[in-house]
Amino acid sequence: MEALGGEFATAPALIVDGYGPDRFGRCEAHRCEAVYIDLTRNASRRYCSAACTARAKTAAYRSRRHT
Ligand SMILES: [Zn+2]
Repeated sequence: MEALGGEFATAPALIVDGYGPDRFGRCEAHRCEAVYIDLTRNASRRYCSAACTARAKTAAYRSRRHT
């Protein structure tokens, strides 16, 4: 268990090394405050999961139709 904890502890440092600190973001979906790590090539990620991405797109679509 100690070895496993160590791996989890070093993973964020490795990500900062390889991608930069701006790769950490907070999900922009409504009422979701999950933190994600952006591993996309152009740092285009905005949501923590595919579920939140779909939810946000649906909400945006609905708000466009109403205005
Ligand atoms: Zn989310």
